[in-house]
Amino acid sequence: MPNLEPRADLDRIPSTSLAPDGMSAREAYMAVHDELMLDGNARMNLATFVTTWMEPEAGQLMAEAFDKNSIDHDEYPSTSRIDARLACMVASLFHAPGIDPDRPESATGVSTIGSSEAVMLSGLALKWRWRAARRAAGAPTDRPVLVLGSNVQVVWEKFCRYFDVEPRYLPVEPGRYVITPEQVRAAVDENTIGVVAVLGTTFTGEYEDVEGIARTLDELAAAGGPDVPMHVDAASGGFVAPFLDPDLVWDFRLPRVRSINVSGHKYGLTYPGIGFAVWRSPEDLPGELVFHVNYLGGDMPPFTLNFSRPGNQIVGQYYNFLRLGTAGYTRIMAELRAYALWLAGFVREALPVYRVVSDGSALPVIALSLPDDSPFTVFDVSHELRAQGWQVPAYTMPADAENVAVLRIVLRHGFSADLTQRFGEDLAAVTAKLQRHGSVDATARHFAH
Ligand SMILES: *Cc1c(COP(=O)(O)O)cnc(C)c1O
Repeated sequence: MPNLEPRADLDRIPSTSLAPDGMSAREAYMAVHDELMLDGNARMNLATFVTTWMEPEAGQLMAEAFDKNSIDHDEYPSTSRIDARLACMVASLFHAPGIDPDRPESATGVSTIGSSEAVMLSGLALKWRWRAARRAAGAPTDRPVLVLGSNVQVVWEKFCRYFDVEPRYLPVEPGRYVITPEQVRAAVDENTIGVVAVLGTTFTGEYEDVEGIARTLDELAAAGGPDVPMHVDAASGGFVAPFLDPDLVWDFRLPRVRSINVSGHKYGLTYPGIGFAVWRSPEDLPGELVFHVNYLGGDMPPFTLNFSRPGNQIVGQYYNFLRLGTAGYTRIMAELRAYALWLAGFVREALPVYRVVSDGSALPVIALSLPDDSPFTVFDVSHELRAQGWQVPAYTMPADAENVAVLRIVLRHGFSADLTQRFGEDLAAVTAKLQRHGSVDATARHFAH
């Protein structure tokens, strides 16, 4: 049936400045809608960790809250209450001590726009705490240093640059893409504001040895060395490990862990725009960082970098927590891990040309590499898969393992057993084609987080 709606004339769609006149609501809708059709198909995007599917009820609730500004606690007290509950539920999930089950405010945590903001806030708290302790001891405070792996997500580099903290990157090496307790022990000193460990690295999805690092730092402090706090970047793993690996001790059960960030919009299963920073106790969040304002009526103690923020992600995250509970998250995560393990097994058996760098036994993420003498590269594979509609990034590993390149496949909610199998078949077909013809295009090198 022909589309009889009035359509915007493409030549007339402004792209560099406002046009003198507007257009009808329908025309504006069609113009933007049509342009967005050219975006990729989110279901076939195996590059990102970020949620691309939610239940329609969640979408409806979120649409009902688009107009709410979450910072306006006085106007939207219910949204604020829900927000406080979310931070408390996350802190409980991570075993924060001292939570009063009747008082969500008894947790020390905030929701943010994502893990990036949460990382900035957590890093600032580490820096402020270190500086206060150094001042109290009459020691210099001019060289704060953060100890972290070269495998960290780019936000940590940003934190260090924006807030004048010197990063001390611990190298990875071919075959080892996580940091070790021994590396940490050798790197920390009295200028260390904290150590970052990642639960589910961006590069391979592996969990770092949080417990081993914590124990090493405990021993160091007990022996009279520096007493260095830890932060865990659980952007992805924070909503996987508690459900699939409950015996893995990586969170506030370790007294050394003072703060944790997690992205609600990754395995928290909410559309983009929400994350959390939680602290072990109020003492871990220096009071000078929390501003009290009353411009909007009422006293609000926000600890955030931005002010206004939509309330709808808060609502969507709460929907997920209510809807899924522990059993629901466990079921979804177990399904994703099963798909990842199946795919890794398929590759090992049917496509032995690949080396399985990570097999989905931590995050539901698979990383594959090719031998040095392969006539084609993982960049070729990525390129060919793109032609089949799949978005699968290929990239080189971080400092000291840059000669290793991997293909990374991230499995997310909304994926299915059928799609996993389809993807396996397409990977096999693309690989066979490249084995026949060799490298076609090795230029498309980009890394998607
Ligand atoms: C995605 C990610 C981040 C950044 O999180 P956003 O929620 O996208 O801001 C930080 N660290 C790790 C390990 C990540 O995977």
